[in-house]
Amino acid sequence: MDLPAVYPVSSKAVLIGTASAMPDDYLKSLQSGLAPAQRLSQIVEHSMCIGCGICQGIVGPEKITLEVTENGNLRPVAGDSLSHEDMDRVIDVCPGTRIDGMPDSERTAGCRTDEVWGVWHDICFCWSADPGIRHMAATGGALTAIGLYLLESGEIDFLVHARASGTHPAFGERHISRTRQDVLSGSGSRYGPTPTLLDISDIIESADRNNENFAFVGTPCDVSALRNYSRHEPRVSRYCRSILTMVCGGFMELSGTRERLAAFGIEYRDVASLRYRGYGCPGPTVVATRDGRTVSMNYLDYWGKDESTWNLPPRCKVCPDGIGDAADIAAADTWDGGSPPQHGQEDDPGVNAVLARTQRGREIMDRAIAAGYLVRGDSLTCEDLNRLQPHQANKKRAVWARFQGLKDSGRIVPLTSGLRLESLHDRNRPEFNERERQGTRRRVAEGRFSEPTPKRCRSRGCD
Ligand SMILES: Cc1cc2nc3c(=O)[nH]c(=O)nc-3n(C[C@H](O)[C@H](O)[C@H](O)COP(=O)(O)OP(=O)(O)OC[C@H]3O[C@@H](n4cnc5c(N)ncnc54)[C@H](O)[C@@H]3O)c2cc1C
Ligand code: SF4
Ligand code: SF4
Repeated sequence: MDLPAVYPVSSKAVLIGTASAMPDDYLKSLQSGLAPAQRLSQIVEHSMCIGCGICQGIVGPEKITLEVTENGNLRPVAGDSLSHEDMDRVIDVCPGTRIDGMPDSERTAGCRTDEVWGVWHDICFCWSADPGIRHMAATGGALTAIGLYLLESGEIDFLVHARASGTHPAFGERHISRTRQDVLSGSGSRYGPTPTLLDISDIIESADRNNENFAFVGTPCDVSALRNYSRHEPRVSRYCRSILTMVCGGFMELSGTRERLAAFGIEYRDVASLRYRGYGCPGPTVVATRDGRTVSMNYLDYWGKDESTWNLPPRCKVCPDGIGDAADIAAADTWDGGSPPQHGQEDDPGVNAVLARTQRGREIMDRAIAAGYLVRGDSLTCEDLNRLQPHQANKKRAVWARFQGLKDSGRIVPLTSGLRLESLHDRNRPEFNERERQGTRRRVAEGRFSEPTPKRCRSRGCD
């Protein structure tokens, strides 16, 4: 299979606004003496890159290009003209080096804050009012329904989200929707690398030129990157009218996808398309091969029974924000204990748990319900979310200790604020914190937080 050498970006990206200096002394000392290209590579080498693409998006493809590397990851490769000033901006925007919670300006009257689940105005069960969308979507179609409402009501001119990649079947790609059909073609979860922000500054330029508003759907780390970028580029907040996310436990690296498919007798190079879930809740994982076969796998047989078999990128294992702390609306699954039952998935209509975090998010949901796009079920509490998302609650409590383990080992530790990580850490039993810290140190020593210097894959072996 031919891989795209460079993920496409339409035009030169220009950063407008004041770039703040690199704010973290620890990271500054780690990067001292490095050339700009080495500073970029270090984020990858320390396994903090998640392949979001915003570094290319903000400094332009002549300075950074997101490439498929030898190990099948999507990683940034520096061009000759990358400067320290560019890298200061990248470090301040990259979700591998900086993640902040909800901006103060969005914490309006009436919002509540939970130590684990963050800022919220409303939490409830929700699903798409259209049974066809509800069936086809990842869970209950809440995100698709809200996207459709925003577009068809005229509140936005386009939706920036993701769909299956046209060139690499396990991956996702950035998708711009202007019609109902566009939105529906992006429905579902992409559990592979998905560089949603690769050309974000072009999108902002275009929105400004045409005076168009948009909404954004991305993973929580995409949301962090977009919020970070808005500190440099005021037009993000002007034109991006709402930020939607999914509660996210991470995705599968290509190496894991290859192994998993091989266990079902499928060579990844023979794959024409890969749908991870949908058509039920979660519905089957379905692979179509180039020679016309269709292989359907039970979601649990494909993923395994718990997090240990998910083959997550290391960055996801220390993710300080899988719950979309800074989004207007965050949507999740609703299985007790966090895992679906083995049987009956195809007939499960799908129900989302949705957090309306901001006043804006709550009002959008109310309007989508009133307009007949979304159905609201019972209200939920944060205790309900802990029961439905135990892996998220556990990770949120463990991350600060894991960060200490990274720091002990001289690794990049993302700069965070407003995520309550330290206070959650302080409430844990000391033995728990020590185990998490030592566990991370051991994983670093075993090389599990190390990646080669990113180089573009020039062979056909990467697929
Ligand atoms: C990588 C990943 C990990 C997840 N982990 C968890 C978890 O641990 N716990 C949990 O409760 N839920 C998790 N989910 C969320 C769950 O799969 C559903 O996405 C969520 O419940 C919303 O369902 P929905 O029916 O409203 O989505 P839909 O109506 O199907 O809409 C999904 C929207 O998300 C966009 N999208 C899909 N994949 C991506 C991507 N990779 N990057 C950017 N945008 C994307 C689509 O374009 C679409 O607009 C995860 C999702 C992803 C993508
Ligand atoms: S996480 Fe995103 S911004 Fe950071 S280095 Fe990777 S691709 Fe670039
Ligand atoms: S777990 Fe965190 S780092 Fe990984 S994809 Fe999800 S939000 Fe991004």
